[in-house]
Amino acid sequence: MINYPLNNLEEQVRNCTRCPLYRDMPGTKPVCGVGRVDVKLDIVFIGEALGEDEALLEQPFVGMCGKFLDKMLNKAELNRSELYITNTVKCRPTKNNGKANRPPSDDEIKACKTWLWKELQVIKPKAIVTLGKVPTGTILSKKTFSLGEMVGKGYNPGWMDTVVFPCYHPSYIMVRAKHKEDEAVSLFKHVKRFARS
Ligand code: SF4
Repeated sequence: MINYPLNNLEEQVRNCTRCPLYRDMPGTKPVCGVGRVDVKLDIVFIGEALGEDEALLEQPFVGMCGKFLDKMLNKAELNRSELYITNTVKCRPTKNNGKANRPPSDDEIKACKTWLWKELQVIKPKAIVTLGKVPTGTILSKKTFSLGEMVGKGYNPGWMDTVVFPCYHPSYIMVRAKHKEDEAVSLFKHVKRFARS
């Protein structure tokens, strides 16, 4: 059994007060990534931040968006048990008095990426799939870029021996770009082959 020190990390994340976002999580806690601890995981999926369902259930990628991600993973014959799934920001950024989600701010990303770096240092994945602009910009240190031009290609982040594969966020595909679903599934298949080679 591989002894990931992720349990310790999970506890630290749950008690994090590094930025004010934890105050917007009434009754729940910041959420670390999830993945098996008894096998070496070669693929990490990174989303943006918690949504309402994720904050309530204290799990990344649950609710409708999570189900849609699962559907795409199934089409690519990838199982969640083969992945570590996490978010760039471990709390839920909200607006309108907590009624709606919003993208995390630069300061929130900066505060929280400490945890993402620690997760990646423990797991040391062969491949990282970044779901959306926030994780892609964070991992590849990019501010201005076209995500569409990057999807389908692999990038070396420069600070870690891994390959980053940018993809669209599942909620974007589900709500606004169903025609990109096949492209995402093809990418997931490619990542699976790459990670097993
Ligand atoms: Fe901590 Fe990240 Fe939540 Fe900010 S968003 S409180 S850094 S876990």
